[in-house]
Parts: sequence; structure tokens; C-alpha cells
Amino acid sequence: MELLCAALAKIRLERQRAGVQACGTDGSGPLPRAWRDARGRLWWKAQTLGLEGPANDLELFNWCRRPLGSWPVPLSLTEGDLEAVLLEGDSLSEFAEQAADLVQHADVEAELVQNQVFAALMLCARMNGGNDEVVQRVYCRLRRLLIDHAVLGDREVQVLARELPAADSDHDSFLAKFVRVAFVHHPVEAPGRVRLRRCGECRNPVDDGAVGCGTPGCTGVPERHEVACLGGYWTQHRATRQFFHDPGLLEGRLQDHLDELADERLCVEDWPSLDAWDMAVTFKAQEPGAEAECWAIDAKDCSSPALLARGFRCDPRVPTRRRIIVIPMHRLRTPGYRADLERELQGRVSGVEVLDEKTFLHQVTVRARQAGGTR
Ligand SMILES: [Zn+2]
Repeated sequence: MELLCAALAKIRLERQRAGVQACGTDGSGPLPRAWRDARGRLWWKAQTLGLEGPANDLELFNWCRRPLGSWPVPLSLTEGDLEAVLLEGDSLSEFAEQAADLVQHADVEAELVQNQVFAALMLCARMNGGNDEVVQRVYCRLRRLLIDHAVLGDREVQVLARELPAADSDHDSFLAKFVRVAFVHHPVEAPGRVRLRRCGECRNPVDDGAVGCGTPGCTGVPERHEVACLGGYWTQHRATRQFFHDPGLLEGRLQDHLDELADERLCVEDWPSLDAWDMAVTFKAQEPGAEAECWAIDAKDCSSPALLARGFRCDPRVPTRRRIIVIPMHRLRTPGYRADLERELQGRVSGVEVLDEKTFLHQVTVRARQAGGTR
């Protein structure tokens, strides 16, 4: 299945390069190896089971538009995943995007940009931070920028540049390098305000005439947005949106809620140890000599629980009492999502709990109120 998604992602990339929209079935260009491999495997599986495999590429393309559970050849997937389709019209479904992401080099361009964004962000943090504490602070500042700013005016970049001035010997600042990798520049003819449309909730740009923003789980309504520009503005690269912004929305919400709760009893660290976890919440000991209690949190917004579990890594660097994967409420609309995730995590990691966003925040609030308690 991942192989097939990787193939679809690759076809899309090749069609994009060739200037053709999405992955159609017009047969233009040779199909990638992963596609042939996936078709071959399906054919063998069908033979073994005495069933009909896909007769040709066109038929397999048509299968990709049907729920996985309705394919003539049974697939070993979880209940929820069987309802997914790989292609919605001619576009890759969210499921297919995330499955493809798990296969190395599936979407070569997006993966390259993702790595470049991360490297540029890290470099900018290191070059602007004199010690570990400042590096960590700049790191969080830039990660949060990617969550809060789907669009960035060049005036905003200028303000940031004064805050993070470190530059290489060519006077090219590390911030500028980071912005150039993570965002796409749109020049304007004259200084002034540029009118754009964006989603009122997730703030992703929305095309004229589009009803929704297309962000998973987002119910925001399009609104007008003005960006103050001198020479232009920046929008996030497709990969930045896919790997940092959209999955970061949950992280951002949790951070905002926890920051409101933070007081002398509760301390919140975002992306501790440069992203060992998404968040560490420490309930301070109220009695002298008692030990503080720490919870490590990873916020995960994935369409498939099986794929989430397969890609989940547990970082032992943060010593904690609880390790929690927090999932957004909209994922609970998929029947069996949580149970599937818990089952898939078994045998891969131990001692990791799964909580939904609301339950998690409630538990933090209750625990923070237990003044003096350390367990
Ligand atoms: Zn939205």
C-alpha cells in the first residue's frame, strides 16, 4: 500500500515537472518503478488467492479511487483505513500523502524541502544563540512562526531580522536563508497592502472561489487578509505546509492552552531538547525535597493510526512519568481510530498513552490543581 502511494506521489511530481496537472490516466510518460512493483505484488496476491488482479494500469488507477476495503484483492489494513481512498478525483488523498511520506524518497521534492527547512531553522537557531538556552528559545520562536504564519509580509521578516541578525561572511543572514527555503516569494509592483484570502482558523491561503481551506479537520471559513509589503510577501512552500504548519496546528493549540495554565505550580517547555518531544509539562513539587512530575507530550494529527504508529519514535532523553500522544478531536470522528492506534502501538513502544485533546487538557488542569501532590 505504501509502495502504491509512493508511486502515486512520484507520478504527481513527474507530471508537475512536465506541467501537467495531477496524476491522470492519460498514460503520458512512463509509470515509475514503484507503481509496477505495487501492481505486480497485487497481481501475485490475487493469483495466490485465486482472485482477479488488476488487468492493467488503467484498472488499477480506477481501484485507487475506490475505498481500499472494496478492492477485489483483500488488503491487510485496519478497519478505518479500509474506508480510505488513494485518489480523490485526480488528486492524492490525505491518506495517500501520509502513506507516501513513510516511504523514503516517495515525494523527493517535498522531502528535500522538509529537510532543508529543518536544517536552515536549526542553523539559524544555533548561529543566533550564544548558549543552549538561547538556541532553544530561537528554535521555538521559528517553529512557532511556521505554525502561526502561513503568509509572511516582508515587513514582518524585517522585524524578525533585527531580532535574529546573525549572518555569514557574505552578509546573508541565517534568517533570510531560512525564509527563502521554507517560503515562496511573491513580488509586488509597489509598496502597500496586498489583499489575500485565507482561512479564518488555520490561516492557510484559500483560492478565490474555494469553499474550504483543505486543511485536515479545519472547519474555518475563508476571510480577507491584508499583508503589508514593501517589495513582496511570502507564502509557505507546499512541504512547509505539509510537514510543519498543518500538523503543527494541534501543537500550537496545546501550547496556547498550557501557557494559560502555567503558573508557579506548572511549567511548560515547547519542543524540549530541540524537539525530543513536542512538549514537556512539569508539575512542580510543592514540598521541599519532593520530586517534580513531568509528562512528555507528542501531538499527532495523522489520518491513519497504523501509519502514525509505524512512524512513531520514542525519545528517551526527557525523563518523564507519563508519555502521551495527543490526538485532535476531529480524528475521533473516524470510528475505531483510538483503539486502532493503541493496538498498532503495542509491541512498538511501551508505556505510551493515547489521549484526545480535550481529555489531555482536562487531566493537566486537574493535576495542576492538586497542590502539594507529587504523584
Ligand atoms: Zn482552515
